[in-house]
Amino acid sequence: MKPASFAYYRPGSLDEALSLLAEHGPDAKCLAGGQSLVPAMNFRLARPAVLIDLNRIGSLAGIEQTAGGSVRIGAMTRQRAVERSAMVAERAPLLYQAMPWIAHPQIRNRGTIGGSLAHADPAAELPAVMLALDARFVTAGPSGSRSVHAREFFTGILTTALEEGEMLTAVEIPPRPAGARSVFVEVARRHGDYAMVGVAVELTLDDGRRCGSCRIGLLSVGDTPVLAGAAMRELTGAELTRDAIDGAAAVAARDLDPPTDLHASAEYRRHLARVLIGRALRRAAA
Ligand SMILES: Cc1cc2nc3c(=O)[nH]c(=O)nc-3n(C[C@H](O)[C@H](O)[C@H](O)COP(=O)(O)OP(=O)(O)OC[C@H]3O[C@@H](n4cnc5c(N)ncnc54)[C@H](O)[C@@H]3O)c2cc1C
Repeated sequence: MKPASFAYYRPGSLDEALSLLAEHGPDAKCLAGGQSLVPAMNFRLARPAVLIDLNRIGSLAGIEQTAGGSVRIGAMTRQRAVERSAMVAERAPLLYQAMPWIAHPQIRNRGTIGGSLAHADPAAELPAVMLALDARFVTAGPSGSRSVHAREFFTGILTTALEEGEMLTAVEIPPRPAGARSVFVEVARRHGDYAMVGVAVELTLDDGRRCGSCRIGLLSVGDTPVLAGAAMRELTGAELTRDAIDGAAAVAARDLDPPTDLHASAEYRRHLARVLIGRALRRAAA
């Protein structure tokens, strides 16, 4: 199918893009890599009257270290650039590990970090990874710039805390604590498919194998990416023994309310989440 007709703008600066968003309000949508939006338009699941193409705004792309030591990734940075970034590999290995699990190289060549996060698909890898990394999202809008915690950004299926006229400009990943360990695992029917369940773990261990901090992000288990809060609290300060890991995985799975769809039942997803959380924690502890 072809999309419904729309007006097309290609601003050259962030200010110009924000003016267009303000002018056209809810009729307008930003176009990033187009890998989710264009198929949705072709199926007429999305019918924006106005498309604001962000691809000419060079200031929105790039990966850099901030003065505070965070890794800042511009919203229009291609997923492939993140996958190949030495800085991401060194300073955000959890994100680096997750990148090849997103779709296929052709899609990552066009798809952007900001597009995936703003799209807020609960089955996508990046939102769950950003929860586990305790990232902050930088937005720009009519009342200036805001910094929003990842845990406050995802508000429902394909819904975010972005307000009318606002767009995502960057994501900032805080400095990695010394001794941090990162593990990303997922199970999909075929490599490149959306995962049935995925798990992102970032934790620190002291010499006595005691867990100093622990964050567990889950994908494909609810309406939004999920932080396994009860399991995280249970493990923080605890020794990462086999029993502690199995107990935390069981607690996390018990708290989930995953969907049933044609790929997996809710019961299977809960089981898979318990197995994958246990696997990820054991790898992190190894
Ligand atoms: C066959 C196929 C398989 C895929 N498999 C996976 C997968 O396994 N895992 C996965 O995570 N993804 C998958 N994707 C989606 C892919 O990762 C997309 O690239 C991503 O979801 C959207 O990024 P984009 O840059 O293409 O955004 P677009 O499609 O251009 O935009 C997506 C949405 O975000 C909005 N938006 C974009 N940028 C901004 C911004 N800066 N500020 C505010 N709003 C913005 C748009 O208005 C639109 O609503 C798949 C896609 C395809 C086609």
